[in-house]
Amino acid sequence: MLTKKQINTVLDTIADMYPDAECELAHRNPFELLIAVVLSAQCTDALVNKVTPALFEKYKTPEDYLAVPLEELEQDIRSIGLYRSKAKNIKKLSQSLLDEHHGEVPATREELVKLAGVGRKTANVVTSVAFGIPAIAVDTHVERVSKRLGICKWKDSVREVEETLMKKIPEELWSDTHHRLIFFGRYHCKAQSPNCDSCPLLDLCREGQKRMKRREKQRA
Ligand code: SF4
Repeated sequence: MLTKKQINTVLDTIADMYPDAECELAHRNPFELLIAVVLSAQCTDALVNKVTPALFEKYKTPEDYLAVPLEELEQDIRSIGLYRSKAKNIKKLSQSLLDEHHGEVPATREELVKLAGVGRKTANVVTSVAFGIPAIAVDTHVERVSKRLGICKWKDSVREVEETLMKKIPEELWSDTHHRLIFFGRYHCKAQSPNCDSCPLLDLCREGQKRMKRREKQRA
């Protein structure tokens, strides 16, 4: 596992690589962000961003989503994976926003996770991006990178990864680090072919060193 000093090196390095990392889901307000994050489950941000311009032009408020039949909303998001359950959840969460929050998106994780289709990760993204509350949302990139680098254990659950990161990273860096880890995982330490040979963290990365040794053996 990485020491505190090594974790600081990781934080400094990814800050240098991706100083402007931010949420890549296009949105203009907390409600659009909430819908975009719900749509992004098991789907790329790029695909969601293809669908949301027209979607957000048509649906601006929770009332708008409730005013159309379920089938119509399904058709409007059909190019996104799991569109049937996502359409159902969007309708349910729109109803809850109207019934319990005067049509506004709540700013706390506790309230957000009570909405249909909103898990801890989605709630963390919304609280951090829309409301500036420090949070670390653990998606597939954050989990993979934290485990490869040895910040977390391979067997850790998503919740354990979040708790470990919150313990090991200063709170004022949670939100920036979350975005930087996503960029690092999306563009550099990729799932299938991480760029270990050009990685500035190779010296302290157990997974990278293993992969480089394997490559050398294959070449020999
Ligand atoms: S050395 Fe490889 S596995 Fe390790 S962080 Fe860098 S790219 Fe990822």
